[in-house]
Amino acid sequence: MKNFLLNNVSLDSLTTLFSQAPVALAMLMGKDQVVEIANRQILDLWGKDESVIGLPLLQALPEIKDQEFPNILKGVYNTGITYKGNSVLAMIEKNGILNECYFDFVYSPIFNNNTINGVSVVATEVTEKVLSEKKLKESEIRFKELMEISDYSTGIYVGEDLIIDFANDQMIKTWGKDKSVIGKPLEEALPELKGQPFIGILQNIFKTGVPYVAQEDKVDLVVDGVLQTYYYNFSYKPLRDVSGNIYAIMNVAMNVTELVEARKRAEASEVEYRNLAEAMPQMVWTAGIDGAIDFCNNNMMDLLGCSEQTIGQLNFKEIVHPVDYMKLVDAWIKAAEKNTYFEMEFRLKDIRTSEYRWFLSRATPVLDKDKFVKWIGTCTDINEFKNLVSQKDTFLGIASHELKTPLTSLKLYAQVLERMLKKTGDEKNAQFAKKMDLQVIKLTSLIGDLLDVTKINSGKIHLNQDVFDFEQLVVETVEEMQMSTMHKIEIVTEHVGTVFADRERISQVITNLISNAIKYSPEAERIVINVKGDGKNTVFTVQDFGIGMPEENKDRVFEQYYRVSGDEQSTFPGLGLGLYIAAQIVERSHGKIWVNSVLGKGSTFSFSLPVVKI
Ligand code: ADP
Repeated sequence: MKNFLLNNVSLDSLTTLFSQAPVALAMLMGKDQVVEIANRQILDLWGKDESVIGLPLLQALPEIKDQEFPNILKGVYNTGITYKGNSVLAMIEKNGILNECYFDFVYSPIFNNNTINGVSVVATEVTEKVLSEKKLKESEIRFKELMEISDYSTGIYVGEDLIIDFANDQMIKTWGKDKSVIGKPLEEALPELKGQPFIGILQNIFKTGVPYVAQEDKVDLVVDGVLQTYYYNFSYKPLRDVSGNIYAIMNVAMNVTELVEARKRAEASEVEYRNLAEAMPQMVWTAGIDGAIDFCNNNMMDLLGCSEQTIGQLNFKEIVHPVDYMKLVDAWIKAAEKNTYFEMEFRLKDIRTSEYRWFLSRATPVLDKDKFVKWIGTCTDINEFKNLVSQKDTFLGIASHELKTPLTSLKLYAQVLERMLKKTGDEKNAQFAKKMDLQVIKLTSLIGDLLDVTKINSGKIHLNQDVFDFEQLVVETVEEMQMSTMHKIEIVTEHVGTVFADRERISQVITNLISNAIKYSPEAERIVINVKGDGKNTVFTVQDFGIGMPEENKDRVFEQYYRVSGDEQSTFPGLGLGLYIAAQIVERSHGKIWVNSVLGKGSTFSFSLPVVKI
């Protein structure tokens, strides 16, 4: 074997030196690049054993024949210029298999007396690093492809200069720019960012490695040539290479401007609405679907002695008058079940005076896309009004009571007068006396109604309840009424059993319904009465063929002083009390009263009472 000796250095000592070196080393001597020295590491990289030492390189590693290395080596040998290769691919045969290997290497000329007689090889295998970098690159490409179609605005900024390496269409649209921004530093592509904190935040991430997450951050961007304000939820996340160094930052952003602006509008309108609520003389409140009050204006808080913090702890049992409390709960539950308008009068305790005052409370359910979300309500102080009503009732009570006595005398005198005139044969004047008597009867009935109402309103109406045959009462009452009307009263009854109620008062209800049927059907000739039962309830019905009433007035006719308005109404005298009294009597007898009516066709009034077994 031909030895190429170097100046004053023996081959043995070089071999020892090389074998101890921590890197892969070889010396290729002469034009044929004979492997003079090759340490363990380089033999391992080559996948060869020591038998290759002394062989020309192409014999030692025949697989590299058509690869670039022999030529590079030749170049170094001929020119004396060192060559550095970085992550260069070499196909190396190891254990009979051709492997894809990557090397960082340096080829340096070996000089002997100013002539080159060989090339030294220092190599490091970087296959793993290169392959993982390749993988990273591939996954980055796949990732970018994905991001391209993502609904989120995505961008990647490389290096501290924040070169826009990638920005999907969504991001370009967000910026109001075009694809030409790619490859430019962020600051250049979006000059409007100057003076805003984002560039600084991004650069800082290169130093700290700490991601930045923003919620509804305000960003000013020039879109369509105009500086506009947007709101974004976004994140800046550092991207690291295989060695763990941050090489870029990924920005994923979502435009939430519409949402934020809608919320701001809602907040502004909430402030407006609160100001409005405070400016109102009424008490204003809102409550959740469970009925718990969550807002009161100052007026209401002053009344109840609570603050914004303690509203939620309000105990209605303590602030509502005990007599009204259960009625309020019932009415509230009914309204909540059906999500309907709520209206009720009840007494609330004024914390400042510890006295109860009357309020009219109204509440409307607030719906959001048909879903019931809350109540908005008011409480209007009607204490003065209630006092006036009670004064009026007291006055009416006294006045009607006082009127009753002279009327009774008047009636008596009219009857005596009629009889006396008849006796003297003065039939004409006797008729006048009779008419007078009839008018007195009407007046007595009106006064009776007024008295009844004052009694009902003050809770003093007394019912002399007893058991009686319902059908019999109807028949008796109808017979009596038939005598004083031109309408033919047709009656269909069945034996329905007995009821427990005030016979006089139920007769008053029947009389009232029949006289209304007659009064409000002046053009008709008949009315029809029906008595039916189902074993549990008796149902009395009176049908007329008169003026009827519009659907929307149906339920209100049972209210005090309510009269269906309309041109025709003025021709029918009345106080609007009869049905109110009838409804109160029926309800207090545990029954129900209702009406069905068609305008211009007629009405059917009914009431039912529970049957009692004896
Ligand atoms: P009024 O004294 O006015 O008759 P009511 O309380 O008996 O008072 O009745 C209240 C209102 O109901 C009446 O003013 C009338 O408008 C309406 N009403 C009552 N009965 C009938 C009926 N049979 N047909 C049409 N409207 C009726």
